[in-house]
Amino acid sequence: MYADLLEQQPTPYYVYDTALLAQTLQAIDAETRQHDNYHVHYAIKANADHVVLQQIAQAGLGADCVSGGEIRAALDAGFPASKIVFAGVAKADWEIRLALEAGIAAFNVESREELDIIAQMARELGIQARISLRINPDVGAHTHAHITTGLAENKFGIDRSQMVEVIRHAMSLPATEFMGLHFHIGSQLLVMDDFVALAQRINELQDQLDAEGITLKHINVGGGLGVDYDQPDTHPIPDFRAYFAAYTDNLRLRPGQQLHFELGRAVVAQMGSLITRVLFVKHGLHKRFAIVDAGMTELIRPALYGALHQIMPVHLEGHNLCFGTPAAATETYDVVGPICESSDVFAKDYRMAPVRRGQLLAIRSAGAYGQVMASCYNCRPLPKAFTVASLAACHS
Ligand SMILES: *Cc1c(COP(=O)(O)O)cnc(C)c1O
Repeated sequence: MYADLLEQQPTPYYVYDTALLAQTLQAIDAETRQHDNYHVHYAIKANADHVVLQQIAQAGLGADCVSGGEIRAALDAGFPASKIVFAGVAKADWEIRLALEAGIAAFNVESREELDIIAQMARELGIQARISLRINPDVGAHTHAHITTGLAENKFGIDRSQMVEVIRHAMSLPATEFMGLHFHIGSQLLVMDDFVALAQRINELQDQLDAEGITLKHINVGGGLGVDYDQPDTHPIPDFRAYFAAYTDNLRLRPGQQLHFELGRAVVAQMGSLITRVLFVKHGLHKRFAIVDAGMTELIRPALYGALHQIMPVHLEGHNLCFGTPAAATETYDVVGPICESSDVFAKDYRMAPVRRGQLLAIRSAGAYGQVMASCYNCRPLPKAFTVASLAACHS
């Protein structure tokens, strides 16, 4: 859709910059193309927009799904079943059956109990289930407590001390084929040491498995690479070189081993903006509030994680949306939404160019964990999303 139609759309809505998505996918390809054993699966939970999924599928990535609905969305968008993996701690029977019948590449299994159910259902269907076991690596990650997943004893994965026993059990089941191990340590990680620590932990585990005579066909290191929410225009594309190098330089793969990555946020965060309109500029006693028509119903990250997204005026020039520049930020506002929750705040004491009623604002870096987490609270409609080629081309 052309950007000049966007002004006619009722706010709030998402816009996705397909040109930036294409550049991001090219950057991933540039770093992985020389390794024919590297496979990147896009984590669909970050953004499941159909047009976005189609573009990612066409670029050749696989899909990492955490529900039956995501498996359907992946198949509908053109991801081949042979490139779909299925993770998640609570797979329902219908979801397991759907995945088995579609013939997905692998289940990332999170417990021995789940393994037994998948094996039983596969046997009933006369299908061989390829499985990978999710091991909790017990490495800390420098990120928000709500989005770290790799520390000891949480609901995700199998403890290291039970690894060998569960692998042996998996290998003894006739209807399953044991493929390898799966890890995921958290999200929005910007310190490469976290990935290095995971690589080193995997080296220890592989040495232990070698001693047991157990070989892995593939290793899946999950996702988690973060993006620069503070400076989306300076760093529109994450540092994929450093990310892949953390594994290339530190992980000791065995001959013939495949290495799988599951990137979500890093692929889609920067290409998305939530467009909202200023309803009122309220002058309080000590503060000025920019009250906007988007809220935690459209973008919950600020309320859920205390996340800060850059907010800036946006206007149209021809077919481009043009974002304001930080230099124009001369006023201070609390930017708040319409929802009846005091956590419905996008930013406090936030420096911005002066705003007035009716003006459009862009809440930036909202392509990941934005639209997919929207809700109908307060009987609000779910936000629409539009794709445009190149939003960031112009600045003023
Ligand atoms: C959420 C998730 C990912 C993607 O995480 P990002 O931080 O968006 O890269 C990858 N793998 C698993 C198992 C996940 O749960």
